[in-house]
Order: sequence, then C-alpha cells, then structure tokens
Amino acid sequence: MMRRCTCILLALLTLLSLTACGGTKSGSASAGSLSSSAADSAASGSSAQETASPTSHSGDEDAQPFDKNSVTWTDWTGVVEHLFFHPVVAYPELAFDGDAQANGIDDYMVTADEYLKILQSCYDKGYVLVDINQVWNETTDASGKAVMVRSELKVPEGKKPLVLSFDDVNYYPYMLENGFTYKLVVGDNGQLWSYGKDPQGNDVYSQDLDAVTILDKFCRAHPDFSPYGARGCLSLTGYCGILGYRTQTDTKSWTDAQEANRQKEIEAVKPVVAALKAEGWTFGSHTWGHIRLGGSKSMAEIQADTQRWANEVGSLVGPTKILFYPHGERPDGDDWKKTGPIFKYLQSQGFRVFCSVGTESFSYIKKDICAVICDRLHPDGTTLRHSRDRYLQFYDAKDIIDLKVRPDRGVSWAN
Ligand SMILES: [Zn+2]
Repeated sequence: MMRRCTCILLALLTLLSLTACGGTKSGSASAGSLSSSAADSAASGSSAQETASPTSHSGDEDAQPFDKNSVTWTDWTGVVEHLFFHPVVAYPELAFDGDAQANGIDDYMVTADEYLKILQSCYDKGYVLVDINQVWNETTDASGKAVMVRSELKVPEGKKPLVLSFDDVNYYPYMLENGFTYKLVVGDNGQLWSYGKDPQGNDVYSQDLDAVTILDKFCRAHPDFSPYGARGCLSLTGYCGILGYRTQTDTKSWTDAQEANRQKEIEAVKPVVAALKAEGWTFGSHTWGHIRLGGSKSMAEIQADTQRWANEVGSLVGPTKILFYPHGERPDGDDWKKTGPIFKYLQSQGFRVFCSVGTESFSYIKKDICAVICDRLHPDGTTLRHSRDRYLQFYDAKDIIDLKVRPDRGVSWAN
C-alpha cells in the first residue's frame, strides 16, 4: 500500500524537539525559556491586545453569507480528501536565513503567501470545507457493538469535500524566532487576529500572516468555500501551552509565580478558544509532549502523557475524538493490520479518528474496535518541490512555490 510514508516526518522530530518549553521534555529549556518569556511578556495582561486593538477593516470585502437553499445538495460517497499544514511562515526572511532550522522549515512548512494560493486553488477546483468530525460517526451494529461508520455527507452539486487540519498550533519558541506569528488574539469584533513581531521588532496584528486568520478571511470572502461553516481541526500539543499561551505545567520546578502566570495565560486563552469554536474550528490531540506512539515509549509514559493532555489542553478546548500522531508514527508500529495495546488504550480514552500522514487521503474503518485510521496529504516544501503530480488535483506546485524566498534546494519538476 502507498500509505506507508511516515519516514518523511522523522526529521520533524528534530525540528519540533529543539526547543522544549519545560515539563518532562529534555533539558533544552534554555533556548525555549528565552523566547517563551518574550512571548509571555508580549502576552502579559490583556493590555497587549487592547492597546493595539486589532480592528476589523474587512467588512466591505466580505461576501453575502452562504445560502444553503441556493444550491442542490448531493450525496458524497467518494474519498474525502484531507490536507494538513503546519503553522505558515509569516516572514520568509527570518525563516530562511540559513540558520540550523531553515531547511526543516523549508521541508515542512509553506509561507503565508503560498498557503493563500493553495486555498484559492482548492476553492477554484471545487473543494468545499467539511469538518473532520462530520466525516465519520459512532453507532452500534446489529449485535450492539460500537462501530464507526461513514456519515451520510452531502455537498453542493459539483463540489468535493475537503478536510483541513493544522498540526502544532502551539507557537513554539523556535517558531517565534523564525518568522512565524506569536499567538492568536481576539479583535474587538470577535474575529481572530495574529499577534507577532516583524523583522524590525514592531508589534504586528494581522489577518494575513497566520494559517487560521488567513482561512477565516478567505471564508468570509468566499462563503461557498465552507457551506457548513467548517474551518479546520487544530492539532495541539501541550508542552508549550496552546495557541501561543503558556498554559503548561512544569514538573521540574513550579513556583507560585509560575502558577500565577499559568493562570493568567489560561484566562487569556479562553476567549481565543471560544472565538475559534464560534468561527467553526475544532480541536484534536497531538499528544501533550509530541511523543512517539510506535512502541519506543512505555505504556505508563503514554498514559501519563494522555492524562496530562486531558488536564492541560482538553480542559481548555474540550474533549476530542481526534488524535493526530506525532511524526505520523502509528501506535504499536502498525495501526492497520493489528490493534495493539497502545492503540487500544488511546481508543479507551475516547479517541475514534486516528490520523497519520501519507501519500493519499487513505482511510480505513477498523473492524475489531470502534475507530477509524486515516492518512493526510501534506502541502509543504518537500511536496511542492518533489511531488507535484500527486497534488495536481488541488494545485500546481509550479504556481504555488515561492522559489524567490525559499532556499535554493531544487525541484523535481521541469521549470
Ligand atoms: Zn507535530
């Protein structure tokens, strides 16, 4: 089968593990704490977002709301395509500056401009957004056993459903140093904005630099791209907090001041979570510590991580049935031909849809346990450079990739 493609994500381990925020992650906290505290001070109080209040100027570009009666709805029984992104690069000059992380960012990310072009192309090719929670649902079979089934899914005639998911929407310290936005904030009209700093160090509130706000803005301009109001599913770890807010605990040291700051960050992220939900975003687990599920971690470690995610992330975003495998690594080394102890444990904790990464939008409803496994395609530097054909149904990499800002690492297609 073509779905075996997790090796491409192995290098991401290095990238995402470089700067840990604390907790049980290994001792590289110094790099992390530096920019973590920068983010904290940017977040401190609510003054940051109130004094520089992001104000909507997008009213006049918004189209009429989507009218569900204006289209003919038809059943969709085919493949539901699924694309996933990491946070997008806001400032290529910071991301692709030749430092140790530049090539990893080139491999696994797209720029904000590339991302917008990908959305536009998907829209032009007739894709419409559905939420991953819409695609399958849990029921009982004739014998009373809980099973997952494909939902009856309707789309406007001529359209094709598309699920989007976004991994590691945590605004890790290394991202803050490398040209990504710092956090999501809520503007005075309830819309989401990103906060960050431009290369000159100026505060920037924008709706054009972050994957979340770009998609929201695109959907406001093109309501028929999201006939159900769906956006994407945000795949969150917990070890650096969530959504740019440092809501995590640290088991190595914990002072009253740390706890007070954590409580402040928790209060600050709540309206962001509420605004995301109101906009149509949903949430999934990416494990607390971005841990490997393939068998190198003990069951006790996986249980502790899962509990910690529920305590520190689930408590803020609500329960979820969706699990996105860190590094794409499948539980027990194989989630398809077998159902191992790690998979069974994760399923017992409420997960029903288990997402890896692959070369097609593969999905399989497991027969022996109430669960679905699926693969996602990955628009990023590697596939823009080397998998143009596979993504032509969504976009032509030639039209998307911005070779002017990316490192000179070649492409496999003819110019
Ligand atoms: Zn990840």
